[in-house]
Amino acid sequence: MKHVLVTGGAGFIGSHFVKRIIQSVDIATVTVLDSLTYAGHIENLGTAFLSPKLTFVRGNILDAELVDDLVQRHTAVVHFAAESHVDRSFSAAGAFLATNVHGTQTLLDASMRHSIERFVHVSTDEVYGPLPEGTATEEAPLRPSVPYAASKAASDLIALSYFQTYGVPACVTRSSNNYGPYQHPEKIIPLFVTRLLSGEPVTLHGRGEHVRNWLHVEDNCAGVEAVLRDGTPGEVYNLGGGTDLTGRELTEHLLRTCGATWDAVTYIPDRPANDLRYSIDWSKAAGQLGYRPERVLEDGLAETADWYRRNPDRWAPLMRNLKADRSAHAMPVALAGR
Ligand code: NAD
Repeated sequence: MKHVLVTGGAGFIGSHFVKRIIQSVDIATVTVLDSLTYAGHIENLGTAFLSPKLTFVRGNILDAELVDDLVQRHTAVVHFAAESHVDRSFSAAGAFLATNVHGTQTLLDASMRHSIERFVHVSTDEVYGPLPEGTATEEAPLRPSVPYAASKAASDLIALSYFQTYGVPACVTRSSNNYGPYQHPEKIIPLFVTRLLSGEPVTLHGRGEHVRNWLHVEDNCAGVEAVLRDGTPGEVYNLGGGTDLTGRELTEHLLRTCGATWDAVTYIPDRPANDLRYSIDWSKAAGQLGYRPERVLEDGLAETADWYRRNPDRWAPLMRNLKADRSAHAMPVALAGR
């Protein structure tokens, strides 16, 4: 794993991952390939630029020539790049299919040609769809109910098919909802935190009963690294183990963390296809890779809120763009998932 190509490394999770692996003595070079969509920010890489190991390439994973050139100079690919926001997928499903499905295929094609040693495809628990009860193991059927999740499910299957068909040593990770510093303020935790810190109201969908598992981004990155190093090609690994919370419970935590009260909260009708509950069984990653999430939710949320409190210059311009986007495209202002 000496030379690692990280797609989407200027996004939320990818940038944490780059800052993590660049410190590894056995990794000689790390190249980030990122097209810097509205969700990607080169500043997210921060201290990673202090390392001579890092190269940043602005480019699209759909650019087959560029991808081929980069892949052939690396031994491993860790693929985070995606259109990642569920609500946007309601109005722009085409962009999700292009990046998430065809972009993944473009990377896999190049990985096949250049006999890459390891391909980690980063995916989501949303591919399993809603679970009224119980937990989904990696063998559970894929029942995505929104275009984002459907595009990720398709890309998971394509990655696994490239292992079966061509022997590309691909693994898939499926994590629950991530939170932590540097997340785009369109996602629920930074959206609520930044609005509450600005003295603005927040809105909950339905009765706030949707259940999500909240995993600190550093715990997910530790799991992705474990899969990069020790995962078995052709296998899927669920990465969960954060804290299950309803929307109301999460809101309660965030109000407390930001020093606000329920007066700041209003309820609006639920959005379409809002999965009631996700839950994954992550015992396979625990048993086979020693994956074990470490962050305590209260500490993680406090640290996250503190980061947004200290860095308004990072999110205030993004919030302004978001508000302009929403009025231009009539996007919903309340979120129940992520
Ligand atoms: P993000 O939206 O913050 O970052 C995505 C990055 O990909 C951005 O930097 C963007 O510029 C880049 N990108 C998008 N399209 C591209 C393209 N065509 N070519 C090159 N770069 C492109 O997303 P995130 O929250 O960091 O999620 C990263 C991955 O993890 C995604 O694959 C997502 O599906 C998955 N995931 C996210 C979560 C979560 O809670 N955020 C949970 C489970 C899985």
